[in-house]
Amino acid sequence: MTRIVYVNGRYVPYADAAVHVEDRGFQFADAIYEVCEVRGGSLIDEARHMARLERSLAELQIRRPMTAAALGHVMRQVIRRNRVRDGLVYLQVSRGAAPRDFAFPGPDVPPTLVCLAQSISAAQRDFKALSGIAVKSMPDIRWQRRDIKTVMLLPACLAKEAARKDGAREAWFVDAEGFVTEGASSNAWIIDEGGAVITRQLGLDILPGVTRATLLDVLAEEKMQLIERPFRLSEAYAAREAFITSATQTVMPVVRIDGRSVGDGKPGPVAGKLRRKFHHFAAISSA
Ligand code: PLP
Repeated sequence: MTRIVYVNGRYVPYADAAVHVEDRGFQFADAIYEVCEVRGGSLIDEARHMARLERSLAELQIRRPMTAAALGHVMRQVIRRNRVRDGLVYLQVSRGAAPRDFAFPGPDVPPTLVCLAQSISAAQRDFKALSGIAVKSMPDIRWQRRDIKTVMLLPACLAKEAARKDGAREAWFVDAEGFVTEGASSNAWIIDEGGAVITRQLGLDILPGVTRATLLDVLAEEKMQLIERPFRLSEAYAAREAFITSATQTVMPVVRIDGRSVGDGKPGPVAGKLRRKFHHFAAISSA
């Protein structure tokens, strides 16, 4: 089966999918993106992802390429044409292609829109959660507007590569004061000795994760104690449990941080429960 990609109004074979060499996403990372989970042929938390995409566009004054409903149609087409049941759908919007100039191009330059879908086995994801993952801490060297989901992901690539070399799957960024901000592509959580669930409050320094938002609904419904505050790396080392959240991993237990075991070094019961509950609370719309 030929993989199909949406590029600027056309559904094209993967091998032919391309954007212009002077696309501002390519030259300036002047682009934003979204990643939405596809599960059992459904889109997970589509409305929240679309709301964040709209916000990212507005923050960067990038013109919206089409309505949220039309974007939903494109995502569904790409999912269907690639027969994705479990996996992800990726949307990217750049400020468009124009002769290289730092200042924004005029209103005649349309934004670039790309949409891809990818299958990821659900069993493989669940299997990973049984053993949990290791993370490596890294200085947070990113810019000061991490609340916008831009494609400016070089610090995340460098951190993830360093983590991989150390046998870890995710990197946790740490700010100048020693507090964990978030994962390179996830939000970071710990559970303290008293059982309180702790994650950094929203602000300019972390991405407002859609999975994070839905998990807050789960915690409220389950009447679990939540504390939104920065936590130190030393607190994470001593935590009873730790986990990350992202659209593609939902709730993934963390069993090692910088080579030290978290708790007994096995995925904790709270992370396991939250992972099981997650999709009961997420918004599910057919793809
Ligand atoms: N933080 C960062 C830096 C991310 O890149 C991501 C996802 O890619 C997240 C958090 C989690 O966000 P979401 O739950 O919306 O996938």
